[in-house]
Amino acid sequence: MARIVMKFGGSSVADAESIKRVARRVLRAKQDGHEVVIVISAMGDTTDELMDLALQVSPQPAPRELDMLLTTGERQSAALLAMALADLGAEARSYTGSQAGVITTSSHGNARIIDITPGRIVSALTEGNIVIVAGFQGVSQDTKDVTTLGRGASDTTAVALADAMDADYCEIYSDVDGVFTADPRIVPGARRIPEISYEEMLEMAANGAKILHLRCVEYARRENVPVHVRSSFSDKPGTWVKDINDMEGTAMEEAIISGVAHDRGEAKITVVGVPDRVGVASKIFLAIAEAEINVDMIVQNVSHVSDNRTDISFTLPMSDGRKAIESLRAIQPEVDFEDVLYDDQVGKVSVIGVGMRSHPGVTATFFNALAQAGINIGMISTSEIRISVVVSADQVDDAVRAAHSAFGLDAEGEAVVYAGTGR
Ligand code: ASP
Ligand code: MG
Repeated sequence: MARIVMKFGGSSVADAESIKRVARRVLRAKQDGHEVVIVISAMGDTTDELMDLALQVSPQPAPRELDMLLTTGERQSAALLAMALADLGAEARSYTGSQAGVITTSSHGNARIIDITPGRIVSALTEGNIVIVAGFQGVSQDTKDVTTLGRGASDTTAVALADAMDADYCEIYSDVDGVFTADPRIVPGARRIPEISYEEMLEMAANGAKILHLRCVEYARRENVPVHVRSSFSDKPGTWVKDINDMEGTAMEEAIISGVAHDRGEAKITVVGVPDRVGVASKIFLAIAEAEINVDMIVQNVSHVSDNRTDISFTLPMSDGRKAIESLRAIQPEVDFEDVLYDDQVGKVSVIGVGMRSHPGVTATFFNALAQAGINIGMISTSEIRISVVVSADQVDDAVRAAHSAFGLDAEGEAVVYAGTGR
């Protein structure tokens, strides 16, 4: 018997029929003798719809009230699943995040889990119930108000609960069969990765793979919670995300690159004609930091000999573009740079794999593949297990395909059928 946390994403509970299907699946796990805790997302696009509704009522809804509203989405699906399970003869109880003891910081819309006190749900579980917890929410330690954990954060609820309840593992169910070597909508020959290390999954999530929430992977790595990513529409094995020392090993030793991720959500800003003096870059990035913007890649050119000025480019989330430009314009007179350019027709393509630690030539292979495909590299950044480049937006797909074949990741034979969103 295992204790399992099963998390179902919005696409798995989009309507009444889907909720009944999930109920049957949950019941099967229970009948197999496991203790099951369910974490659930809001039905389909409910969260987006509630958000739209709020904006129709007020252009800037109060964050506290927005959280009161958005948390109803998960509460609704949790209660409905409990009803569906009861209909199948199972004992099931739903709980809000707050009732389940999910204690968070007070920052509405983006709260962090500080602690979980699962006493109530542990008793319900040991009494033989199926426990259902509304994902994506908690209660603030200081204000006692209801909070949400950020978009897509039901994954994080699930991993945090699995950790707090000493579950054997956490299953994340969505509408895709697992983590793939690239987005199969771009690369028809992409393959399911049977197992991947936390480190690689973190890089994948941070660099555009939408399959798992970044914070959920961070949590899983920190607390060493094995995560099984799989589809609620099939019984196929998915992808295990694990500590590298717990991996089977064989496949991993062969592959230098585990996957290719891409991200179309970033934009590039170039600060033109920056005086090449001590302290100037610090002023620029201080202004960006004060606007609470996370920058990703940064490139500073060699300064022009004639006027001793240089250009600094960096990437940032596209949604922060306007704010960044305003902050830079505000310091322009003081810093005395010439101009600010904004370009959102860019995309980031990353190759990720622990194998690159021990294999030279990965950069050469990647860049050569891009060159062969006629793709110009705008910016470059690396970590120990990742190489990322910025290319023009219309070449992202080609770059992903080129990298995928250059590292021998293309599957032979049949293409994977894939239509999911990963939610
Ligand atoms: N329902 C929330 C969202 O759509 C949380 C989640 O789905 O994980 O962002
Ligand atoms: Mg959702």
